[in-house]
Amino acid sequence: MRHLTTRQQQLLRLLADGEFHSGEQIGRQLSISRAAISQQIKGLKALGLDIFSVTGKGHALAQPLELLDAAALQRDAGGAPIHCVALIDSTNQYMMSRLVDWQKGECLLTEYQTAGRGRRGRQWISPFGSQLMMSLYWRLEEGMAAAMGLSLVVGVALVETLQSFGYHEVGLKWPNDVYAQGAKLAGILVEMSATSGGSCHVVIGVGLNLQMPLQPVHGINQPWTALSAIRAESVPRNRLGAEFIRRLRLALQEFEAGGMASFLTRWNHLDVYRDRPVRLLLGEQEIRGVARGIDEQGGLVLETESGLQTYVGGEISLRPAN
Ligand code: ATP
Repeated sequence: MRHLTTRQQQLLRLLADGEFHSGEQIGRQLSISRAAISQQIKGLKALGLDIFSVTGKGHALAQPLELLDAAALQRDAGGAPIHCVALIDSTNQYMMSRLVDWQKGECLLTEYQTAGRGRRGRQWISPFGSQLMMSLYWRLEEGMAAAMGLSLVVGVALVETLQSFGYHEVGLKWPNDVYAQGAKLAGILVEMSATSGGSCHVVIGVGLNLQMPLQPVHGINQPWTALSAIRAESVPRNRLGAEFIRRLRLALQEFEAGGMASFLTRWNHLDVYRDRPVRLLLGEQEIRGVARGIDEQGGLVLETESGLQTYVGGEISLRPAN
């Protein structure tokens, strides 16, 4: 796991208020030279932070930044341990590589991923401090077969959390993207590994764009958005994180006890493509039809020329018809 240097951490804490800090003030507080300040700022910018330097005023972040606070998250969410790190390759990767270490519901959050991943080897891009980015460990005693539909449950928990913070325009795109204003707001990646005892380890990764940089973000090859584009007022990051963790753990318990039953209506209610013409991409094949929501297993119901068909599985991508 990579770490921020002590100097970078100190500088970040200073700049987090979004105000200008003069080179002189920074130099005094961190006991470093002007040249060293420029060097540290360069390092932070390379992580995707928007830092402005103005002659006569000093250095400032484009927006104030609420850094992750493990103690606050733990206090508000309760339950299994919650860890925060500044830098990591991927929270899912880290949890998946140490499966026996975690308690059910344990969480790992990060400010920045050097190798964030999406489905089927795709990349997840996360400029420093711009997201709620985390993984949660769960174990399904019933094994992998019981996991069908689980990623849809995660989407429901995330959107319902956002709605509880007043973001009512947020919805879901099958199978597991969170959408707002016709663009991707969050991604969900569920990874699993069977145990010899028949149960199944589950690592649930979530990246939710809160306040992404102002300039175009290299590597995102589809329309995307952030909460800051929906509402200028910034969302309290640690409170949102704690509320999501709390709701996600409850949703997973409910899913374990009763399967998709109680999530079916909730998911369909949040479906942004409901009754709209769509294309399903299955490798080279493309199927057109009208999206009619999901069934009890979490499969997508598509109305095609030959009637209603249901599609299940991780190899399928849904796109608007044109
Ligand atoms: P599918 O519809 O099959 O899920 P997807 O392209 O959305 O397709 P995912 O694996 O869910 O695939 O997510 C990875 C994709 O998300 C990347 O290829 C990239 O286009 C996009 N992406 C990466 N980072 C971000 C981000 N921060 N915000 C929004 N989209 C992103």
